[in-house]
Amino acid sequence: MDKLFCNHCGFERPQDESDCPNCGAPSPVVKENTNKRFLIFFVILIVFCAIAIAWLPR
Ligand SMILES: [Zn+2]
Repeated sequence: MDKLFCNHCGFERPQDESDCPNCGAPSPVVKENTNKRFLIFFVILIVFCAIAIAWLPR
């Protein structure tokens, strides 16, 4: 595992830490994971809407 350093103050911190223990800056690793989760949720939502529209009676 590569060591992660804070972009704000340069303090070494663990990768699973959401905020920097030294200055409290948010971790970029956590931010990237959040974006991936949002993208997966968005794709599932579009597929669900497409199925719902196809099944709607006209
Ligand atoms: Zn910091």
